[in-house]
Amino acid sequence: MQVYMYCLLKVLKQCQALREALLASGKEVLWHGRSKKEPASYCNICEVEVFNLLFVTNESNSKKTYEIHCHDCAQKSSRNLENFVVLEQYKMEDLIQIYDQFTLVPSLSSSSS
Ligand SMILES: [Zn+2]
Repeated sequence: MQVYMYCLLKVLKQCQALREALLASGKEVLWHGRSKKEPASYCNICEVEVFNLLFVTNESNSKKTYEIHCHDCAQKSSRNLENFVVLEQYKMEDLIQIYDQFTLVPSLSSSSS
């Protein structure tokens, strides 16, 4: 549980840092949202799970086929990310709320016996 919490916090911080870096570099982050049925997103190139910030090629975005890349692969194929749009699935407040909900849940396994 604690390891998971730590990972979640790390992911949130990474997301936030990446988002700020993108905005600072003049890259637009477009709101995309996420439907409940939508499966997790994976990078088309390296198949890593892409969380929250999806790097989608301009072309596939206009066709709405959404060819998703992770930040690393997007940067490798386009230095300034000029061929990519950045789609955001969660609002930062939502992510923080998810995190808070996890931290508020007491450890059940230790108290049940
Ligand atoms: Zn990748």
